This record gives sequence, C-alpha cells and structure tokens, in this order.
Amino acid sequence: MPMTPSLFGGIVAGGTNFVCAVGTGPGDIQAEVLFPTTTPGETIGRAIDFLAPFRAKLVAVGISSFGPVDLNPASLTYGYITSTPKPGWANTDLAGAVGRALDLPVGFDTDVNGAALGEHRWGAARGLDTFLYLTIGTGIGGGGMVGGKLMHGLVHPEMGHIRLPHDPGGQGPHADPFEGVCPFHGDCLEGLATGPALEAWWGQRGEALPADHPAWPLEAHYLALGLVNLICTLSPQRIILGGGVMEERHLFPLIRAEVQELLNGYVQAPEILD
Ligand code: ZN
Repeated sequence: MPMTPSLFGGIVAGGTNFVCAVGTGPGDIQAEVLFPTTTPGETIGRAIDFLAPFRAKLVAVGISSFGPVDLNPASLTYGYITSTPKPGWANTDLAGAVGRALDLPVGFDTDVNGAALGEHRWGAARGLDTFLYLTIGTGIGGGGMVGGKLMHGLVHPEMGHIRLPHDPGGQGPHADPFEGVCPFHGDCLEGLATGPALEAWWGQRGEALPADHPAWPLEAHYLALGLVNLICTLSPQRIILGGGVMEERHLFPLIRAEVQELLNGYVQAPEILD
C-alpha cells in the first residue's frame, strides 16, 4: 500500500550555514542536519541529498533563504537568490533546483519571513496578525506579517537598510565617528549595528566586549532608532528580536528604555508604555 506523505522538508539557507530538517513542527523533528554554506552547487546538493531519502514521505519543502531573493511568482527568476554580495551566490536558482531534484512543491521566502512564520505558528507571535521579526547578526533583516499575511511587496522589506540619525562628528551622547560597514550605504542600520560592524569599530567580536563596554549603549541606541521607525510605520503588535547579537541579553532592557524615550509617550499602547 503506498504511503501517504505526511512530513515536510525544511531548508534554512543561511549565508554561513544551511540547516535542513524533516518533520511536522518543532516538537517533531525526525531528522536534522547543519553544514557550512560553501559553493551553491555543493551546498544545494547536500540539502537535496539529505532530503532525498525521505522523498516518499514528504508533502512539500519549505525554504527560507538569505537574500535578496526573488519572491515574485510571475518572474523568470522566482526562487532565485539575486544580487547578494556573497561570492558565487548571485543569481542562484535555489527553490527551482530543490523542487526539480525532488519533484515536490516548494514554498520559498526570506529567512526572516520563514522565522516570522514559525513564530506565528509556534512561538512568540501566536495569535497576532501584525508583528515583526528582526535578526541582528552578520546582517540585519526584518520580516513579519501585516494583517495576517507575510510581507512581500515590490521585492521584500529590507529593514536592515533603513537610515538613521548618525552623529559622526558631534559631541553629543551618541557621537560616533564610525563610518559603517554596509557596502551600499555605509551607515545604515546594518552598517552600524551588525556583529561585523561591532567588530570593525571596536576591534573585537561582540561576545568579547564586556556588558559595561561603551559599544552597548550605542548599539542599543541604533537598534532603538530602527525599532521606533518600524513601530511608527507598521504599528506591530510585537517585535521579536533574534540573531547572534541579541544573545547579549543585557541589550533588551537598554533597547526597551530607549524606545520608550524616543517615542516619548506618543504611541499610547500598554505594550510600549509598560
Ligand atoms: Zn545598507
């Protein structure tokens, strides 16, 4: 008797690692593998090789990917990683390669929308219809839902690249001569507040900086500026912060306090005022 497919394959395509899994949810991971992101051919091949033995049991494969990616189903390059600066990965057909190799339907979205979808179904965004998920790590990316639908639009949001007030020459409390590391914008949010930005400016990795280091109030300041802009633009019911930099748990109270200070009582919601 043929087996009824009941499992899903998942691929989180990160710029550093790929994580692949088979199961039906976080409480039911039946197989999982992590391997470094090398060349597109080798890396996508490893993902396909991992999923192939489960082929008969799989309903579909979901892929969330680093980007930028093409999410327009009418586009000839739908499912591609497009203009990434990551060497060798520009114009890589990811969703198509997996779908063709396994002959399965593929869901494809940004890494942050994938995380947002997971938070909505199983995590910190359950029951919400308008929320954001931001990762602050090697890069900064944001995704989420508005009115219960994952945000796409023209391409997809690029919340890491919003522009902030930056005081490179001043004497104020947030004076910061660092010019930023974003290859496109210099001192956008990503240019100022990622892990590589911290390392480039302070000469050591974030996890090596003590909690009372001046890097952290400045980091919280930039993140709070970014969040305030997003709060005013999208009115999220919650913002979930993830990524390697947010392993520094002491950042959370700094960010919360500064968001309240910057909004200055204007947005009247207990989620912010409390
Ligand atoms: Zn930028």
